[in-house]
Amino acid sequence: MNYKLVNGTFDILPADSHKWQFIEAKIREFMSTYNYKEIRTPIFEYTELFKRSIGDQTDIVSKEMYTFPDSKNKSLTLRPENTASAMRAVIENNLVRENPQLKTFYIGPMFRRERPQKGRYRQFHQFGIEASGPKSAELDFEVILLAVRFYESFALKNVELEINSIGDLETRQIYIDALKKHLNPIINDYCENCRNRFNTNPLRVLDCKIDHEKNQNVPKITDFLNEDSKAHYERVLELLEFNNISFRENHLLVRGLDYYSDTVFEVTSSDLGAQSALCGGGRYDYLVEELGGKYTPSVGFAAGIERLLLSLEANDYAFEERYLDLFFVCMNEKTKLFASKISDSLRRSGFKVDMDFCNRSVKSQMKYANKINAKYVVVIGDDEINSNQITVKRMEDGEEFKTSFIELSNYLN
Ligand code: AMP
Repeated sequence: MNYKLVNGTFDILPADSHKWQFIEAKIREFMSTYNYKEIRTPIFEYTELFKRSIGDQTDIVSKEMYTFPDSKNKSLTLRPENTASAMRAVIENNLVRENPQLKTFYIGPMFRRERPQKGRYRQFHQFGIEASGPKSAELDFEVILLAVRFYESFALKNVELEINSIGDLETRQIYIDALKKHLNPIINDYCENCRNRFNTNPLRVLDCKIDHEKNQNVPKITDFLNEDSKAHYERVLELLEFNNISFRENHLLVRGLDYYSDTVFEVTSSDLGAQSALCGGGRYDYLVEELGGKYTPSVGFAAGIERLLLSLEANDYAFEERYLDLFFVCMNEKTKLFASKISDSLRRSGFKVDMDFCNRSVKSQMKYANKINAKYVVVIGDDEINSNQITVKRMEDGEEFKTSFIELSNYLN
């Protein structure tokens, strides 16, 4: 039997893993400068957590979750996103009592049984942040700013920040009534998905890609905001303007998950095709309460790493090449003995060193050293060992230097 990848999943192979490591290092660097601390939660949770937080009528819960019973017949689910788990951990560990402005971030795999296509996978990777405690427009701004500056740091072109406010729960209910009233006479002209959503999750009719044009005249949710939500939203916009962050107000932006309130935003890239969202987020002030904790206003975003990689490729991003400091070309068993000892000492000083294990000819060892991007090569034969004189070859230009084993490290920079 031939084993194959599960549809919608992929391997990160050795030739590409440095790109992931680079992005992950950059994420950690950003998080540390904005004072966000990492939180790592299990990749599976009780199913109820996701149902309760993301919402029964959402695409994720209604059709995309990988759910299975454990041996005691408890229903478990592979996490489709990380906010619900993070808030579960916040409640369980009283994290906001310990820190009234809790700032956390995560990086890891998420699982959704979506129809695979470019930029959409069944196991994909997100990083994200969650800031819990104060209801502060400045915090919304900081969360948005972190995302904007992060993408800017890769000099990505064609990236846009879109923003909207969907108000508090009360506003949303009033708005949904108005929206349904507006849509009622015309909903039969919409796609099947929208017709279903009209009954189950009417807000989602707004972000339908197929019926985008038809939605241009729907009532604007921002016209329905109460005083507090309006003031909050205006303050976020003021902060963006004051800091010269360009943005586009998109009154059709509502996000797909039930737990959002007030500010919602997305960073999109026109390089990405249909799946254009690099990252999406917003406020979710009621989520912790919904999960049984105390009212804990929160704001955050989740960003897809695969989509970032796709847009980096579209922008011909030059990732730093990997290299090896030194490759030992060995002529026989005895020389391998020496190479093993000197490799050990050089590695303990921080050099990246490798040698031949395949008993290849000198010529093919040299070829291999070239292929794996070795900066220097040393060929060791009996003569080199007897005389303690070696030749270090710089691969870049073929220049050679004579030295001894003990002084070898001086030539490796
Ligand atoms: P969401 O949790 O749906 O708001 O998604 C946040 C971000 O995660 C999106 O903007 C995408 O960059 C990424 N994302 C979501 N679903 C997928 C998927 N199935 N495959 C790849 N990336 C995804």
